[in-house]
This record gives sequence, C-alpha cells and structure tokens, in this order.
Amino acid sequence: MLGPVILAASRSDKMRRFISAAPGTKQVVDRFIAGETVDQVVPIIRDAADKGLEVTLDVVGEDITTPEQAAAARDAYLELIDRLKDLELGTRAEMSVKLSMFGQSLDGGHELALANVRPVVEAAAAIGTTVTLDAEDHTTLDSMFAIHEELRKDFPQTGCVIQAYLFRTEEDARRLAAAGSRVRLVKGAYKEPASVAYQDKAETDKAYVRILRTLMEGEGYPMIGSHDPRLIAIAQELGRKAGRKLDEYEFQMLYGIRSEEHIRLAAEGHRMRVYTAYGTDWYGYFMRRLAEKPANLLFFGRSVLTKS
Ligand SMILES: Cc1cc2nc3c(=O)[nH]c(=O)nc-3n(C[C@H](O)[C@H](O)[C@H](O)COP(=O)(O)OP(=O)(O)OC[C@H]3O[C@@H](n4cnc5c(N)ncnc54)[C@H](O)[C@@H]3O)c2cc1C
Repeated sequence: MLGPVILAASRSDKMRRFISAAPGTKQVVDRFIAGETVDQVVPIIRDAADKGLEVTLDVVGEDITTPEQAAAARDAYLELIDRLKDLELGTRAEMSVKLSMFGQSLDGGHELALANVRPVVEAAAAIGTTVTLDAEDHTTLDSMFAIHEELRKDFPQTGCVIQAYLFRTEEDARRLAAAGSRVRLVKGAYKEPASVAYQDKAETDKAYVRILRTLMEGEGYPMIGSHDPRLIAIAQELGRKAGRKLDEYEFQMLYGIRSEEHIRLAAEGHRMRVYTAYGTDWYGYFMRRLAEKPANLLFFGRSVLTKS
C-alpha cells in the first residue's frame, strides 16, 4: 500500500525539498547512491572488478526541464566515458541511461533525446563497451523503443529494458528476443494505472517468468534485473533448459541491495553486473528504492528522527 504513495511523492517538488533537506537523509541515500562525482565512483568500479563483478553506470538526474540540462546530462556521460578510457575500465563498465534526462519529455523531445544519446553510444562503442536504455513510465516507451531501434542500426549491441508489470511487455519481448539483442528484464518501478499494468505483485511475478522464458528460448542476450531469489533460481533453471552457457545471459542487481548475492552468483561462474548510480540529483532514483521496500522507509524515518 505504501509503495504507490511514495511513488506519488517522488513527483512532488514540495516533498523533494523537504526530503533533500532532512538531516538524516544523506546516510540513507549513501546506501543506494555510490557517490556524487566520477572520482568517487572510480574506486567502486575497481573494487567491483576485483570481486569479479561488472557494473552498469547511471548518472542520476531524470527531472530536467531545459535543453541545456539535457546537453549537460549528455556531457556528464561523455566525461564518465573519457575517464573509463583513461583508466582502461571500459571492458568492466557499461552505461545505463534514462532518455528523460536527455530531453525526451521536452518539446521535440524524441529527436532531442536521440541527438543527445547518440554521441554517448558512439563514445561507449569506441572504448569497447555499450549503453542500455532504461525503461521509464509507460508513456515514454514507444519513443524509447524507436530510439533503441534507430541506434541499433549503427550500434547493434545497444540494450534496452522491459518491465514485466506492463501488459504490452510479452509482445515486446517476442520482438526483442532476436539475434544480437541485449534485453534487461525487470519487474517495473513506476506507478502505473490498472489499464496498462498488473497491480498485483504475484501477477507481475508470473508475467516475469513467462517473459524470461521467451528471452531465454530466443536468440538474444537476456539480462535478469532482479533481487528476487525465486526468480533468480527460475532464471538459472530456464537458462539450463534452453541450453545456454553461463556467459550467454547475465544477472544484474542494484548497488546497495543484496550485495552478498552479487558475490555468490559471480563465484558460481555467472556474469553479475551491479547497477551503480551516482550524481547529485538522486531524488527520483532514491524514492523508487524506498517504494520497493517499505522497510527502507522505516529506516529512513528513524534516521531523520535521530538526526533532528
Ligand atoms: C539492474 C536493475 C536495473 C533496473 N532498471 C529498471 C528500469 O530501467 N526501469 C524500471 O522500471 N525498473 C528498473 N529496475 C527496478 C525494478 O523494476 C524493481 O523495482 C526492483 O528491481 C525491485 O524488484 P525485484 O525484482 O528486486 O523484486 P522484489 O520482489 O521487489 O524484491 C525482492 C527482494 O529484493 C530485495 N529488494 C528489492 N528492492 C529493494 C530495495 N529497494 N531495498 C532493499 N531491498 C530490496 C528485498 O530483499 C526483496 O524481498 C531495475 C532493477 C535492477 C536490479
């Protein structure tokens, strides 16, 4: 019940100001956000590499309102890629991007987002890595899939995300399960109406398994974005049944969540990628993490109370 309320608060400027200024917030944010700058995130990438993990890097900041901010978002990713090149970390790290941050919701947003994301995809390819387009709320997805298709003409390794809670996703998965495609499957983190998405967690989980089967039996590269132990076991089983080797799919989890599981899966020989978010505009990302697990809200509330 609390999840939808927190997700509604994630769209409120008043709540943003209140939560950002609360004294105990930083301590809780630090669990999910790896740092504010590229310099702070580099040691985390190295540490992950030392543990046999890979990362996908997300510069947070989806709530932009001007084309200048969209260009700044593009430049932040280009700066990151430059640093990865200098440090020769390109093969350990890929990028995750939200097209809203590249201008998708502004006037002429589809073209603007495509124009801003293309140089990032090009720069990533030049250092031997790639970009995955995150999935945001359902109104943005036709544009996201069209941009994905356009980018794949020149950069076929560009990935995208599909969300099991949406009714449309089983059909999207059938289209995307083709040779050379890279698809991350997640449950879905936005507040969606009953006209487009399952409202019941059990229905979403069942859809996740059906979609996962389509991806595993298809010819693409499935990326399983979940911390759910039951779904992880099912993914291993479906991978085995589909005759996939361990490096023919990968698991992905978020920085700060079930970290011991990251290590366990990597030690079993799986490819394990940690979605590592960093930057200063963390509000939307942080609120989605609170909404996913109401216990986080209790922890957050306690932290604010003890510091104030
Ligand atoms: C790599 C990755 C990329 C993602 N990209 C997107 C995206 O592009 N678009 C999108 O809509 N969603 C994205 N998500 C979020 C996703 O949609 C879910 O909201 C999130 O993963 C929680 O679902 P779950 O599969 O872990 O299962 P759940 O049933 O929610 O969680 C299973 C268990 O994981 C742990 N857990 C899960 N979330 C948390 C949390 N926030 N804090 C503490 N413990 C937690 C708990 O132990 C919980 O019992 C992404 C998730 C991952 C892992």
